[in-house]
This record gives sequence, structure tokens and C-alpha cells, in this order.
Amino acid sequence: MISVSKVLKHLEVHCKPLESVEKSINKVFGLVLAEDIKSPINMPPFKQSSMDGYAFIHSENTTFKIIEEVQAGSSKNIKLKSGEAVRIFTGARVPDDADTVVMQEHTNRKDNQITINTLPRIGVNVRALGEQIKVGDIALKKGIQLNEAAIGFLAGLGIAKVKTYKRPKIQILITGNELKQIGEKLKEGEVYDSNSITLKLALRRIGIKKIKVSKVKDDLKSTVKAIEKSLKKSDVVLISGGISVGDYDFVKEALERNEVKEVFYKVNQKPGKPLWFGHKKGTKVFALPGNPASSLSCFYVYVLPLLKAQMGFMNYQNEKLTAIASSDIKNNFGKTLFLKGTVEHDKATVLTGQASSMLKSFAVSNALLIVPEDVDIIKKGEPISYIKIR
Ligand code: AMP
Ligand code: MG
Repeated sequence: MISVSKVLKHLEVHCKPLESVEKSINKVFGLVLAEDIKSPINMPPFKQSSMDGYAFIHSENTTFKIIEEVQAGSSKNIKLKSGEAVRIFTGARVPDDADTVVMQEHTNRKDNQITINTLPRIGVNVRALGEQIKVGDIALKKGIQLNEAAIGFLAGLGIAKVKTYKRPKIQILITGNELKQIGEKLKEGEVYDSNSITLKLALRRIGIKKIKVSKVKDDLKSTVKAIEKSLKKSDVVLISGGISVGDYDFVKEALERNEVKEVFYKVNQKPGKPLWFGHKKGTKVFALPGNPASSLSCFYVYVLPLLKAQMGFMNYQNEKLTAIASSDIKNNFGKTLFLKGTVEHDKATVLTGQASSMLKSFAVSNALLIVPEDVDIIKKGEPISYIKIR
């Protein structure tokens, strides 16, 4: 059996971004930038008022004659003399001659005259040309995830297309003759399939959309065929179940028959011992244990970082955080434990129901608490590492 730390090292080698493509900014929400973006313009592109008020040439003078008006969007550049002011609005071009805008709330107006009550300092309420960003400067760096603010920023600079990393295409293969779909009636000995929906949603959560789910019968021929088909069409294949040592577990042999190169099998961890990982021609294959909590635990710990790396995230690794154990946590197994737990105000609590078949505790946990294989006990009050899962 291989240790968790060795497995993570093996996977690191496969944590590479997929190719990048140019896309309209309307289609890049949640994707990661594959290039530095330089600003094609100054922002603001002209000297701009940040208030509704009056533009003037700063002096001790507080009385002005209003000679003109400039609306937002107008290209007018009014000539000004000392003692003259221009009525101006938020976002409008400040005349080249003016250096300051007084907000209208700080003035009294009578016909064509204003008196300033509170004289602003020179330059106030005027945004300099290129104050936010100058033409040619880097607007956004490669590796950032494009959120609504970033895409809005690009739109404001008039940028229509950017290069982003592709999202991986995923095939989920569900093995298990005992599995029924929701809506079907369970016969004695059967259970509902929950891994398809759990894995699909865990993928959706990081923005992956191209997900195919197929069911495979527990026989060698069907499993070999299903894997062969999946390898051709996907960046990552996630196989659920059939990777243990039972007489009806055909996944390992089917992977071998398809010449998928094994990188590791069987990890010294609980849950998720029978995890398998390999690759063929750029397609990565994880065979996840069928037990629902094992499958999801392996997804968070191993699959998610690899997918994030493929999507181009700079920080794709799970961040190992530290909290304080709220009670003694024992490890009688000599394996690395990933315990469903909660972390609140830095206090880590193990939930009841840690069996690999149980999603009940997973449903309300926000962290996987980690007890390393060589640690027998983490005492109440001692630090414990964890991965935030929600
Ligand atoms: P396996 O890894 O195929 O030996 O399955 C281990 C256990 O997980 C068995 O009790 C299966 O019934 C259960 N199981 C396997 N696949 C699923 C699934 N997709 N949804 C829910 N339970 C499953
Ligand atoms: Mg099975």
C-alpha cells in the first residue's frame, strides 16, 4: 500500500493545465486566464468628474460665473478663465483648463452665479486620465479566475475576447449491478445510485459542464468496452466502484486490458483504500471506491486538485489549514484518516458516522479532518490539519 503523501507526489506530475482557447468574454465566467491582459486604453480615457457639481480653476476665489454645461458623454472641451466655472455631471469630461470640481451640495447657486461654501482642495473630484489603468499596463494576470468583477473590468476596457484554459471533459462510469435509479422500485438487495449525482454536482461546483454519466454492468466485457469508449472522448474518466478485490470487481482488469498505465493502486488511508489512478494518451483515470463517502472523500482529496490544475488554477492544491481538536481523536488503524467533521471558529469536531458507506455526516460537514498514518492520537486542544470542503 502506498502512503497519502506519495500519492500526492505522483499526482503532482499530472497537474498540468489543458490547452487554451480564445473566447468571447460572454463565455468565460469561472474560467482561468491563460494570458496576461494588457489594457488597450487609458481608464478613464479622459479627465473625468467624479461628482455632480462645478469645474473650475482652483484659487482662493469662491464666486464664479457659470459659462457652460458638460453632460456625461459630451466631448466638449470648454475654455475657462479664472472666476469662471462649468456646470458638470458625474462621468463627464472635465475641461483641460479646469483642475477641480466642487460638489453641488457645497455651493449656492443664483442664476448664473455660484458661491462655494466649502472650498475643496485642488484636484478634488477629478479622476486623472488613466488613473485606474494606463494603456499598455497589465489589467489582469494569467492564472486568475474570471469572476463577474474581472469580466466587467475587461468589458470596461473594451476587450471582447480573452484566452482561457479549457475545462476538462469528464466521463463518469458507474459500476454496480445492485444499483437502481431514483424512481425505480428497490428489490431486496438493491440500493439507489448516489455517486452519479454526487460526483456530477461536485464537478459542477468548480464550473465543469461537460459531464457524461454512463452505467456499466459488472462483467469484464462490458467494463472493458465502456472504458475503451470513455478514454477516447474525455480528459478525465471517473469510475465508481468495482475496483476492490471482490469476484465482481472488474475495473482493474479492464483498465489493464485497455493499457491504461497504472500510477498507483491502494492507498494507506481510511476511507478510500482501493483508490486507483492511471493514464493513457493524456486521459487521466481515477477508479474511485464505490462506497459513497469513500468516493467523495477521494474526489476532494485527489481528483479536485488535478481538475483545478487542468483548468489553469495557480493554487490548485487543497490548502491544509489548522484548527484545534475539540476532543481526543484516536487513530487505531496506522492509516491516514480523513474524518468528516466541522470546523467552526477554529474548533475541529469529528462527526459521528464515519463509515465509508455513510453520507449522512458528509452532508453536514464542512471539513475533512486529517490524522496522519503515523499519529495514534490527537489530544483535545492539540492542532489538527484539515481541508475545507465547503
Ligand atoms: P464496490 O466498490 O463496487 O465494491 O462497492 C462498494 C459499496 O458501495 C457497495 O455496498 C455498493 O453497493 C456501494 N456502491 C457502489 N456504487 C455505488 C453508487 N453509485 N451509489 C451508491 N452506492 C454505491
Ligand atoms: Mg461493485
